[in-house]
Amino acid sequence: MSVEELKKELFYKPQHASAVVEENEVAKADAFAEDYKKFLDNAKTEREAVAVVLEDAKNKGFEEFNPEKQYKAGDKVYYVNRDKAIILAVIGKKSLKEGVKIAAAHIDSPRLDLKPNPLYESDELALFKTHYYGGIKKYQWVAIPLALHGVIVKADGSKVTVKIGEDEGEPKFVISDILPHLGSEQGKRTLSEGIQGEELNVIVGSRPFKSDEGSELVKLNILKLLNEKYGIVESDFLSAELEVVPAFKADDIGFDRGLIGSYGHDDRVCAYPAEQAIFSIENPDYTAITVLTDKEETGSDGNTGLQSSYLVYFINDLAKANGLDGYQVLSKSECLSADVNSAYDPTFNSVFEKNNTSYLNKGVVITKYTGARGKGGTSDASAEYMGKIRTMLDKAGVVWQIGELGKVDAGGGGTVAKYIANLDVDVVDLGVPVLSMHAPYEVISKLDLYMAYRAFTEFFKQ
Ligand code: MN
Ligand code: MN
Repeated sequence: MSVEELKKELFYKPQHASAVVEENEVAKADAFAEDYKKFLDNAKTEREAVAVVLEDAKNKGFEEFNPEKQYKAGDKVYYVNRDKAIILAVIGKKSLKEGVKIAAAHIDSPRLDLKPNPLYESDELALFKTHYYGGIKKYQWVAIPLALHGVIVKADGSKVTVKIGEDEGEPKFVISDILPHLGSEQGKRTLSEGIQGEELNVIVGSRPFKSDEGSELVKLNILKLLNEKYGIVESDFLSAELEVVPAFKADDIGFDRGLIGSYGHDDRVCAYPAEQAIFSIENPDYTAITVLTDKEETGSDGNTGLQSSYLVYFINDLAKANGLDGYQVLSKSECLSADVNSAYDPTFNSVFEKNNTSYLNKGVVITKYTGARGKGGTSDASAEYMGKIRTMLDKAGVVWQIGELGKVDAGGGGTVAKYIANLDVDVVDLGVPVLSMHAPYEVISKLDLYMAYRAFTEFFKQ
């Protein structure tokens, strides 16, 4: 045996997916990516993602979950939690006593939320005050086109849906930055303080209400326009969830079109394939569950985050209808926590440890543990479960790699994995590497996206 042959046999060396897969797999990945781009543009917020997924699910024959009902193999159900999280399930042939298979992704993304009393006028400009949601680099959110999405609940209880700044011809919004000519004071700030939280003020108007007297006429004019368009008054902002997101659309990146640039890949790049995977299976052995959750970016707290009990209650209800307790199902269950990891960045390579980081185009990334400072706050998947998952992927020809979120002590982060693992479920993170994660415009690889779809499909089929 030559040295090269021996190396090939003994070394672990992840390869570019296009070198490993058949030519038609690349074409399939490209086709899959086209639909994914539409999903990105139509589902920029958790509420929009739920609406899109719900419509897809109904079209695929999913019915609203009824806790009283006993389901049979092949039945397809959905459960919507407060319009911000959704569970899809396909009932398996095996007893629930043998556990279920869960793919869990999140559909919230870093953004700027409007404050409860957001509108003010300053020097004849009208602006919105914001409070950022999730981990952002604030300087990235200025001087880019922004859109406004969300809901407003009026005093009479009726709900208005807002989505403005996305369609051709609609106005957009923007946060100003100081010109470089006058930026020397700002330039002395550290990068993380270059733009501060209270400087993330969104410009929403500049023309005053026509009147010979009175102050705050620009604000008045904006409120008048909002009243005409949405029927709201200023106090209605208090009972609203309005989210400022980049107004960009998803697009191919590079001459070879191998990558996609978009807002919100984290974590739609896992949520979308997890959704498509559960749509692709018929009559699985184990009951398959895709949960698309909210509030991951702020720590999974709240009744729509995975620290709440809604997933457990759903499984309890399934169990009860079969004469079981929820824990009997959960303790035999398996989960892929479907979330992104940081892709190696050749320009900022010093924060990565090259042998344990994920790369664009080398397939889905399996992340054994997350956390920070000595694996703090991670569930850390077992050797046995890691072994099971990688064997499953190898057998199916799904291209995979391992990844850790940067060098030891360089930083850290978490996913929903630990909250599901704490329910006595076997869990590992499996997702897609992302470049410029949490930026208004993130980058992923089409091949990695498709490998995620294949991985979730295999997982449900086992
Ligand atoms: Mn994520
Ligand atoms: Mn994130």
